[in-house]
Amino acid sequence: MSNHLFDAIRHRLPAADKVFIEAGARPAVTYGEVVGRSAALAHALVELGVLPGDRVAVQVEKSVDAIMLYLACVRAGAVFLPLNTAYTLNELEYFIGDAQPRLVVVTPDRADTIAPLAQRLGARCETLGTAGDGSLLEKAGAATGDFSDVARGPDDLAAILYTSGTTGRSKGAMLSHDNLASNALTLADYWRFTAQDVLIHALPIFHTHGLFVATNVVLLTGASMFFLAKFDPDEIFRLMPRATCMMGVPTFYVRLVGHPGLTQAATAHMRLFVSGSAPLLAETHRAFFEKTGHAILERYGMTETNMNTSNPYGGDRVPGTVGFPLPGVSLRIADPETGAPLAQGEIGMIEVKGPNVFKGYWRMPEKTAAEFRPDGFFITGDLGKIDTRGYVHIVGRGKDLVISGGYNVYPKEVEGEIDRLKGVTESAVIGLPHPDFGEGVTAVIVKSGEAPIDEKAVLGALDGRLAKFKQPKAVIFVEELPRNTMGKVQKNVLRDTYKDMFA
Ligand code: ATP
Ligand code: MG
Repeated sequence: MSNHLFDAIRHRLPAADKVFIEAGARPAVTYGEVVGRSAALAHALVELGVLPGDRVAVQVEKSVDAIMLYLACVRAGAVFLPLNTAYTLNELEYFIGDAQPRLVVVTPDRADTIAPLAQRLGARCETLGTAGDGSLLEKAGAATGDFSDVARGPDDLAAILYTSGTTGRSKGAMLSHDNLASNALTLADYWRFTAQDVLIHALPIFHTHGLFVATNVVLLTGASMFFLAKFDPDEIFRLMPRATCMMGVPTFYVRLVGHPGLTQAATAHMRLFVSGSAPLLAETHRAFFEKTGHAILERYGMTETNMNTSNPYGGDRVPGTVGFPLPGVSLRIADPETGAPLAQGEIGMIEVKGPNVFKGYWRMPEKTAAEFRPDGFFITGDLGKIDTRGYVHIVGRGKDLVISGGYNVYPKEVEGEIDRLKGVTESAVIGLPHPDFGEGVTAVIVKSGEAPIDEKAVLGALDGRLAKFKQPKAVIFVEELPRNTMGKVQKNVLRDTYKDMFA
């Protein structure tokens, strides 16, 4: 029987004794064990009554077994549904109620609180710990031999992944076997992954970046990875001499740049640093290059689309851009209202089409229909432009666009000007309701303490560098910007906090 995604992995398996994951002091897990352990868990799922197409919701800490559970779901024809470990009981109620999973898997210490909720919503509850413990592994322990993978075609669902909830309530993105397989194979090729690669994996595995980009690329190339429970710079410096690649969110790189250990020698064994999930400041890119000689490779993707664009492996990795559409991905810039294609260089809505693009939002047919153009392009919600060399630039989310006095103000442009000022660590530019202008441009700034700075100094510096309508009408200083667990700035939280600023 063919199982599209797991067959792709099976056909590329390296020798059974090749290491797949090393995680802390626990014994390394080999590719032979990948097949065996995922088979045992797949048997356990079947015994628990999980049928093809059933959702398996998983809120567990990062572990090799959690990856095995993902593979077991794929092999059993179930739909893997990972949930952010930070979600509270209240939030879980929404996700479990929305996804209606057959089975909910949680950490042993949370079983008492979550099991009653799961049962009330019609799901069984099992546990999975990080030390080889939990009821699910006990059940799997009894299973022996291989597992006959459930037949799944390219368009069958492999996972439902909820979006990060940066702009509002998270939406369940339905991802097919081929969405995942095709994108990981494209990335593996584009970023030149081979079985010799060793990836430093310090990302969470409930999000597309750590789960699909990182893990599937490694699995489909027979490479290895170091699994870190969380981002820990000292641990990363300790591993770099034995690693070749790292994938991270911009905050990883900001913190590495600020670490005295970041040198050419420390990164000499590494061949590739990838950044994504949020904009990497051009300044961070440059500082990292100055200290190490490595140009961070920035790419752009979404839960709904996997990865869309990437800076080139061989060519110029241009700071502040997300590179070119990946092979097989069509990308265009369109008028946000009409969908009409715009001329090269103009700012508009980024729209994409390709084998990477999801099958729609779970149980939201109207929302799904509203986010696709009649010719099949998905409306990403991100605004951008394509420069003369074909590099894609993201200027911000459509929802974050500020319209002041009828003029469009792209926050990233204003933030770029503010971030270069001495005494500024970072900034977020938002639009707040304004009686005269509709929206008033407002700058929220985190001071670095390196030099004194106040509202007058900021406004003085921007005058002359930015057109009047782009200049902030107010400046607010804060200790830090609100971020979600993927390190994304939550501008909706800022807009809400300061909504009465100009009232
Ligand atoms: P929600 O859709 O629930 O509001 P979210 O969009 O943050 O949350 P994700 O799917 O995790 O959820 O994130 C995708 C978004 O992250 C993209 O639409 C884009 O805005 C942003 N993003 C990803 N990579 C980059 C990048 N390299 N540069 C700029 N933005 C990026
Ligand atoms: Mg989104």
